[in-house]
Parts: sequence; C-alpha cells; structure tokens
Amino acid sequence: MAERIVMKFGGSSVGDAESIRQTAAQIYAAHRQGQQVVTVVSAMRGVTDMLIGATTSAAAGDHAIPEQAKQLLWEKHHLAASELLPGEFQGVLGEIQAELSNFSNLVMAISILGEVTPRAMDFIASLGERFSATLVAAYLSAAHGPARAVMADTLIVTDQHFGSANPLLALTGKRVQDSLVPLLESGILPVVTGFMGATREGIVTTLGRGGSDYTAAILGHALDADEIWIWSDVDGVLTADPRIVPTAHPIAQLSYQEAAELAYFGAKVLHPKTVRPAVEKNIPIRMLNTFNPAYEGTLITRETSTGSAVKAVTSIPGLALVTVEGRGMLGVPGVAARVFGAVAQLGVSVLMISQGSSEQSICFVVRQEESGAVVSALEESFRLELSQGDIDSIWREEQMVIVAAVGAAMRGTPGIGGKLFTALGEAGINVLSIAQGSSEYNVSLIVKQQDAHQAVQAIHDAFELSRSK
Ligand code: ADP
Ligand code: ASP
Ligand code: MG
Repeated sequence: MAERIVMKFGGSSVGDAESIRQTAAQIYAAHRQGQQVVTVVSAMRGVTDMLIGATTSAAAGDHAIPEQAKQLLWEKHHLAASELLPGEFQGVLGEIQAELSNFSNLVMAISILGEVTPRAMDFIASLGERFSATLVAAYLSAAHGPARAVMADTLIVTDQHFGSANPLLALTGKRVQDSLVPLLESGILPVVTGFMGATREGIVTTLGRGGSDYTAAILGHALDADEIWIWSDVDGVLTADPRIVPTAHPIAQLSYQEAAELAYFGAKVLHPKTVRPAVEKNIPIRMLNTFNPAYEGTLITRETSTGSAVKAVTSIPGLALVTVEGRGMLGVPGVAARVFGAVAQLGVSVLMISQGSSEQSICFVVRQEESGAVVSALEESFRLELSQGDIDSIWREEQMVIVAAVGAAMRGTPGIGGKLFTALGEAGINVLSIAQGSSEYNVSLIVKQQDAHQAVQAIHDAFELSRSK
C-alpha cells in the first residue's frame, strides 16, 4: 500500500513564485514515487501579520492602513499568480479578489464599531491561508497534475476558543476521512489551508500563531499517516535559534518529548501542540528545508534519543516575573492556591513557577502584556492580607526571558547544572531565578532581556553544541 504523508509548507516555502515552484516540486516528487500526499500550506510569508495588523488598526479607527494592506495583499498574490500561471490565472485571481472584498467590508465595519471581536479577528487572520491554498493548488494542477484546494473550516472541527482553538479529534477524523481519502484514491492532490478550523456551527477559528504545523499533525492523526513532514527554511531543528547563535547546528534525531519541550520553550520552527496528535498515533515527524531538500533534517520519533545530554538551548522573550512576598505569608493558609486561582480566573497562563529569593515569596512568569492585570487581580484578592501586613508587596519585573537547556539524557548526567551555572557566571550573567518542578528534560532559568542572547550563546558554547552531530 502506498505510504501516506502529510506535508506542511510554511510561510517562506510559499513566500513567492520561486518558492512555490520548489514546494510543488517536493510535493510532486513524493506523489510520483507512489506516495499519497496531503499538503498543508501556511499563508505567504508576512500575510498573516499584515491581516492582523490591519484589523487592529481598523479597530483603532484607522482607515488608511487597512486600505494599504488590501492593496499590498492584492499585489503580492497577483504577482505570484502571474509568474506561476501565465495566461490562465483569472479564476484564481477572481477567488482572491472576492476574499479581499470580504476583508474590506469587514475592516470597514470594524473601524466603524471601533472594536474587533476574537471571532472576527480569526476569520480575517485565516484569509491568508485561503489565498495561498488556492494559488498552490492552481499551480500544481497547471504544472504537474490534478490538485484541489480544500478549506480546513470544512475539515477541522474545534471548540470556540478563538485565537487558539482546540480540535475535536473524533469529529475531525470523520470529516477528514470522508473528504480527503476519495481525493487521494483518485490521484488528486489535496492542498489544505493550515491554521484554520471551525466550530461545529461552522464559525471560523484559528489554532494559534504558527498553527499550520498543528494542522498537519491533526490531519496526520485523522488519516493514520505514515509520516508528517514539516518543510521550513532551516535544515531541521537546530541547537539554538540561528538568529541568536549563527553556528547553531541541525539535530539529526529528537524524541517527541524533547521536541515538545523545545517548541514550548521557544523553538519557533515547530508549533508546541504539533507533537501531541503525532504521539497518540506514533507518527514520525520529519523537519525539512524546502530550500535544501536533499538534507535529511531532523527526525522526531518515540525513540528516547541518544547523544549529548543537552541537545539545544531555547528562549522565550517578552515575559514578566511576578512576585508575591511577605514575612507573614507562611501563617496565611492556602496562599499559593489563591494566587494561582486568581491568575487562572483571568485566563492567563503561567509559563513557569520559579524559586524565589526567600521562602516567604511566590514567583512566577507570565507574558509581559498580561502582567499588569495579574498584579491588579492579586492586589484585589489579597487586599486584607496587604492591609494587615501579612503580605508586604506584590510586584512585577518586566523584560524577562526564560532560557532553557533541553535534552532527555540530562536527567541521568551529573554536573549539568554546575556546568551551566558556571558558564553563565563566567559570562557575568545574573540568573534571577530557576525553574521549580519543571520536567526532567530541561533546566530553565530567568534572565533579563539584555542578557538573554549572551546567556543562550554561553550555554551553547559550554556544551559544545556547534559541534554536535
Ligand atoms: P515556517 O513559516 O516555515 O513555519 P517559522 O518562521 O515558523 O517557519 O519557523 C522557522 C524559523 O524558526 C527559522 O527560520 C528560525 O529562524 C526559527 N528558529 C528559532 N529557533 C529555532 C531552532 N531551534 N531551530 C530551527 N529554527 C529555529
Ligand atoms: N499563517 C499563520 C501564522 O503566521 C500560521 C502559520 O504560519 O503556521 O501564524
Ligand atoms: Mg511556523
């Protein structure tokens, strides 16, 4: 039986006509070898940012930026279509134009109302994938063989958590099987929009920024795929973000847990939720480079990996450290439960609970933009303790970064912590806090924004990751 592969191509892999040609060549090469290929595409690079930026401006009452965005979006897609489909692209452009006039009407309404609902934002944010899937399917059909654009709001059923919706896998599985398997069996290449889903009622949702990777894993799960291939613009998962560490090196093999930790702690190359559906069905994930297709990339499987104890260093910028401190706190029952209860009620997620400087404090990390609301909510809920002096103060420090060293073999290897902290000490970096109760696959710590790049580089050097195989 033919192997079934879900291939996802990111924004840079469909960023212009030449990249789309390379993408199509990879799809068709696998198809020609007898594999059943389901393609998932992101929006062309920069398009989702533009859609979201224009909508935010419209909500702030600006008319000019949305109008400009519409023009730029039209030019970008028109240019790619005219280069890819000379003489026969009227149909494609007609579809894109129709979506763009929807966009115009929506941003107009939003600018009159002066606000944008999460539901409207998701609908608009998902348009970029509609454009790119239409374009890629048209090009595949013209250049290689029959292909069809499939809008994922007809496939992926989610809850109503706009902005980062969760798939309902059983319902989704049935729809995916019913609509994609007949296409595959008749030799038609489906090109599915990434990032997008819809509620049971058909209201469009998105899976979170970078969520097209997750789309590929959801489809892989639904179709019992043999492999999931994520094509991007780097040679796989690297030992660090190449924009921070230019000598970062591709990692040949990772376990699911290691990949999930790296993604969670900021390795942008993979959306953090992607691993889950793959693990459930034990589907290997390959991370590949559209612009260097012969390179083997990174293979992510169930295998507990071997190799160096620390495999990669990652970081999450834009955070704040919130501290609740008080000498009388030990006598107040259930402080921790009340702190995290109040944070949860705001719908804010805590990225890391850390070890404070004294026993009489609780410290945790949240996204910087949410930290003001967190402090206000805590002040409100501990008003009595604050007035009685049981709690001295509640405050936040902004411009914080979590830096994490990840690797499954770290657990059994003595001296990792010592080596790591020595390296940071020698680089003169002040570690504000370390993680408490985090998984056995990582050591994570908090440093100031201004020290973050140097901290990543120092850990990368200390564990000689540039030389890892
Ligand atoms: P795509 O549009 O293909 O989904 P992304 O921009 O989402 O691509 O992710 C790829 C980018 O992630 C790379 O170009 C790289 O700059 C960045 N990146 C950050 N950390 C890592 C890492 N550890 N390994 C590889 N790439 C990383
Ligand atoms: N286009 C979406 C984004 O920019 C999804 C993705 O690229 O994975 O977030
Ligand atoms: Mg991505």
